[in-house]
Amino acid sequence: MSALTGRPPGHLASALLELRDPPPTWEAFRHTPQIGCLRCDARHPGGPVFRVLPHHRYVCTRHRYWIGPPDINDRGPHLEIAPEVVAAQRWHLRLVRRHGWPAVYDAVLTAFMICANLWDKNVDEADPDDGAVALNQMVWNVRSYVFISPHTERQTFSASRLFAAIYPEAVSIAALIASPTWRRLAAGDDKQLSRFTTEIGWRLGDPYYQPRSEHDPIAHWIEQDCWRPPSPPPTTFAAAPGHRRPGHLATTVTRSSQTRHDKAALWFSRKRRPGRVILFHRTVHPVVIREWSIPMETFSGAIRQSQCTTYRFTDNET
Ligand SMILES: [Zn+2]
Repeated sequence: MSALTGRPPGHLASALLELRDPPPTWEAFRHTPQIGCLRCDARHPGGPVFRVLPHHRYVCTRHRYWIGPPDINDRGPHLEIAPEVVAAQRWHLRLVRRHGWPAVYDAVLTAFMICANLWDKNVDEADPDDGAVALNQMVWNVRSYVFISPHTERQTFSASRLFAAIYPEAVSIAALIASPTWRRLAAGDDKQLSRFTTEIGWRLGDPYYQPRSEHDPIAHWIEQDCWRPPSPPPTTFAAAPGHRRPGHLATTVTRSSQTRHDKAALWFSRKRRPGRVILFHRTVHPVVIREWSIPMETFSGAIRQSQCTTYRFTDNET
């Protein structure tokens, strides 16, 4: 193969994962090929390059382009004006080296869910003293207005760009969620739990954070998930149906997913609810519905379920 294409075997193995010996850890890779960084792809003469990337690859740190979770295969924005997003990818990779990809996969998705929930809190309904909501919403809104400018939503909307807007804070929260030490504190006695809630509160800009039994995915995670193993990806590239079919890699957007995307873009242009887009995106499904979640009839029901607790924090309700 190498002789035929004239490329070194190392290059081929990184492009064609199936040639690797020993075979790759498929679970660590996304199941859908996606478009990567514009500059990296520019070195390839044959047009857009589809790659199967690991779950922890969100940014090309070399060229500072957002790659993001697989979406409609839109090119991600350049991150010149948001260097903190590039820095977050480096932190994310350090977390993977320290805790292993399964713990960090779960932690980053859980953190995306937590931030998206906070972003979705309507400013009018939010407690005026709730500084964390206001401050975070402001930062995330600014980034999202840069990545998806007002009045261009129909052309520039993509869920992936909204993930970019909350990525730095999500990685900061994920550092706690992936850490066995912090997980033990979250599952510990009142004093240990209070150390955890203070730390996560600081990281969310809310030093007085207290778990609530409603609309609080952190409280749900403390009660239901922190003492259980991380949730794995639902499928792998190797297990995805038809991945060996010739032409599968030449991914084109199907008509139905294009229609779904256009509807979402229209809805977003009328009513910007970025947190909601992220909560409903398939990327975070594995942590919204976990193996031990109470089955719900609708996905909205599952989201509500992932934000409440059964008994532990009811005393704190006001
Ligand atoms: Zn690149």
